[in-house]
Amino acid sequence: MHIDPATLPPLDDMIACPHCDTLHMEDDLPDGARAYCRRCGALLLTAESRAVVWLVSLASAAVVLMVAAVSFPFLDLSLQGQHNGTSVIHAILVFGSGKAIPLAIAVALFIVVLPLVRLLALLHALAPLVRGVPPTPSARVAFALTDQLRPWAMAEIFMVGVTVALVKVAGMADVTVGPAFWAFVALVLITIFNDQIMNRFAIWKALDTGTTA
Ligand SMILES: [Zn+2]
Repeated sequence: MHIDPATLPPLDDMIACPHCDTLHMEDDLPDGARAYCRRCGALLLTAESRAVVWLVSLASAAVVLMVAAVSFPFLDLSLQGQHNGTSVIHAILVFGSGKAIPLAIAVALFIVVLPLVRLLALLHALAPLVRGVPPTPSARVAFALTDQLRPWAMAEIFMVGVTVALVKVAGMADVTVGPAFWAFVALVLITIFNDQIMNRFAIWKALDTGTTA
């Protein structure tokens, strides 16, 4: 039989059965639903397993964004011809002397270190599930840490504060936001989205059984 490749759906929309290689069109599953191979009956995917793939992909992207957010210029102030650009790392180092040391430590901890630890713990816990290998013994500890750190990772509160400060400073000087600002915005949106799609019950079950199926 001749098949014109132009009439086939894009390969990205298809999923192959792990047992018999039959191709299926991938479709969004309702919550808790499962899809089986129509030829051999093998389990193809569950709504939970798709969420875990999303969580791991977005958390990986967020780690990269975090590196950009702390190292690239955050904003550039220009007043009477003088430019002053700064990155988050630079700002923390400037505060890191004298009486402002506790502030510098708090900013570094809540804005950078804890969100990063949370992302890395999530990746450590869930990456084996995506690769289809049993979770490591520390995966449960890592996922519990992700959960416990949630109220302490405050990148979104930082962004609200920065936005308020920017509005005030904008009246006095020319403010240009740098790439790090947008990296932080993307990071906050990803974090909020990830917390929304994270089904704790399904993930704990997956860590117990070693599979998202
Ligand atoms: Zn099959």
